[in-house]
Amino acid sequence: DRTATVIGAGLAGCEAAWQLAQKGIQVRLIEMKPVRMSPAHHSEQLAELVCSNSFRGDRLTNAVGLLKEEMRIMGSLIMRCADETRVPAGGALAVDRDSFSAHVTKAVSEHPLIQLVREEAVSIPDGPVIIATGPLTSDRLAEVIMSVPGLSTLNFYDAAAPIVLRESLDENKLFRLSRYNRGNDYLNAPMTEEQYTVFINELVRAETAEVHGFEENRVFEGCMPIESMAKRGFMVPAFGPMKPVGLADPRTGKEPFAVVQLRQDNASDTMYNLVGFQTRLKFGEQKRVFGLIPGLEHAEFARYGVMHRNTFLNSPGFLNASFEMISRKQCFFAGQITGVEGYVESAGSGLVAGLTLAAELNGTEPPVFPSYTALGAMGKHVSTPNPNFQPMNCSFGLIDPLPVVPGQKRLKKKQDRYEAVAERALAYIRSMSSETGGN
Ligand code: FAD
Repeated sequence: DRTATVIGAGLAGCEAAWQLAQKGIQVRLIEMKPVRMSPAHHSEQLAELVCSNSFRGDRLTNAVGLLKEEMRIMGSLIMRCADETRVPAGGALAVDRDSFSAHVTKAVSEHPLIQLVREEAVSIPDGPVIIATGPLTSDRLAEVIMSVPGLSTLNFYDAAAPIVLRESLDENKLFRLSRYNRGNDYLNAPMTEEQYTVFINELVRAETAEVHGFEENRVFEGCMPIESMAKRGFMVPAFGPMKPVGLADPRTGKEPFAVVQLRQDNASDTMYNLVGFQTRLKFGEQKRVFGLIPGLEHAEFARYGVMHRNTFLNSPGFLNASFEMISRKQCFFAGQITGVEGYVESAGSGLVAGLTLAAELNGTEPPVFPSYTALGAMGKHVSTPNPNFQPMNCSFGLIDPLPVVPGQKRLKKKQDRYEAVAERALAYIRSMSSETGGN
């Protein structure tokens, strides 16, 4: 029986349904719009872009540019429609959002093997299925997903503190110490009472990003943004994440009035996160206000803090690198719900899931996307054990670097290395696509 169900007709679901259908599989595609709308979706069309109209950088020396090119070669519907509806945007691929969604909707609805059903899915059907209900999966289905055997956690929001580059910090103003002298793991930024007063005054006045119609109290309870703490009371942060207890500055022997702790964020020790500083400040405001912290005056942000609704699985140990459940064959998840981040990444995971399920149903060899391709790197990210698993955009940090060849010099320039990584990935994807007949 060569039929499959895809739940959710967003970026990932439309791509997955298309890939299945192009391989001869009969698809039932279930979409709850317009019967039920998430807080961020407003149109009846499929593959709605809920925020920006940009698919980001288009150059191959940009990881998401490489990902897009791999997807074009693999016959991606989302990429075809994006290219058809592109608007000028410098080095980025931006689209006319309405025409983009209209193109996807038309292609999907007119495909003879795709049956589009407009209803809310409230259970996971038996048989081959791809669940692609996105960061705003409906509550009833989320409850069902939560109880799927083998899944440890379903997260409902992202609450990430900003991450800064170590090389941009003025370490002369910081001191190394773990609280209560338990080692030297943290960088600490000490503040005088005057510095703390200025900081809190700016923090409570800073502009926050708009929350897209969510019930923020329900979503954020237990994980309060630093600016909300400051609004509750001038001293609340100083008794919370900024408390100086057990952190005597070795240079003075005294505990400062308040402290911001920075924790190492990656194995190569190049990035640090601001402990307890989850925030909804606008990105520009984060730069300005957190720049008042001693030592962070010129901090470069590797990632700004965000707090938003985002339903995502704790995928490592639950999904394999093809986005298939480890404990239930032919049940896949795709898109943002798997812990990839972004329009293109979501569609890319839909492509991998769709092609893999199609091969399983057709009894052909499933495609292999090595982790030196951008598509494979996304699968590796969601399937590799990681105690701090967080949604990630595609980046060269996730794609396997070039191998070290004895006697051969490493390419000096970052751009040259990225170009070589991109060429290696595209060579593989091209040969794979010509073997499997593309779509
Ligand atoms: P979606 O595109 O959301 O598709 C999921 C579909 O499933 C929806 O159509 C939904 O109606 C449907 N659905 C949900 N539950 C059910 C159910 N029970 N039964 C049937 N259908 C259901 N990424 C970017 O790259 N750029 C941005 O600017 C950007 N802005 C974002 C802003 C917000 C507010 C959010 C929440 C996310 C944003 N993202 C952005 C992240 C992400 O890339 C997008 O959310 C992207 O659309 C995810 O693709 P998806 O296919 O996983 O989910």
